[in-house]
Amino acid sequence: MPPAHHLRIRLACPARFLRTVLLVLCGTGTAQAAHVLVDAGHGPQRTGATGASGRAEYRYNRDLAAALARALAALGERVTRVEGLDADIPPALRPAGAPAADLLVSIHHDSVQAQYLAAGRQAEFAGYSIFVSTRNPDYAGSLNCARRIGARLRAAGETPSGYHTEPIEGENRPFVDRPLGIHRYDGLAVLRAAPMPAVLIEAGVIINPQEETRLGKPETVARLARAIARGVRDCLG
Ligand SMILES: [Zn+2]
Repeated sequence: MPPAHHLRIRLACPARFLRTVLLVLCGTGTAQAAHVLVDAGHGPQRTGATGASGRAEYRYNRDLAAALARALAALGERVTRVEGLDADIPPALRPAGAPAADLLVSIHHDSVQAQYLAAGRQAEFAGYSIFVSTRNPDYAGSLNCARRIGARLRAAGETPSGYHTEPIEGENRPFVDRPLGIHRYDGLAVLRAAPMPAVLIEAGVIINPQEETRLGKPETVARLARAIARGVRDCLG
């Protein structure tokens, strides 16, 4: 973890670009626009899941987070991006990238439990999931945004993954809204620590070779980003 005074300096707006710890870009959009904090999950040291090709989740997260920021800006929203560059950012500190933002969207890509990987069953898993936490101070607002985003992802042709409800260790994330692919996951620090409504999106399952190929295509990234951005706009108005 970097020293706290480093974070204070680097979280200051207007925009700063400091490769050593953190990227925060502030202030696209008008003052009246909704302000969205877009978080690219994981970092260059702990890179999250590993795709079937060996490409790290963090790289997928960065690509989609960047596309989401562009899509939100195109809708006139104000965007702050937070992502680790040369060092990881602890999840609980990520909301501090823009503590007055109206919504935090944390972008991730999924794997499956080790037992399925060991059994060679990764091709059976695909689809997106959205997580909300009842420990977020605005759970109702979080769930509302999750539903709007889920509806836009469904309309864009995406399908919820569904497997996070399995009664096995590491899963057990009950559905809050099954048709829209929304789960409750109270243990996620980035959602719990956020003072604003917050959602975490697993955009797809990169351990599945076919799904990974699809998720890596620029047109898929752009389509997912547009769908999420429209859901955000639906929810924030
Ligand atoms: Zn992740």
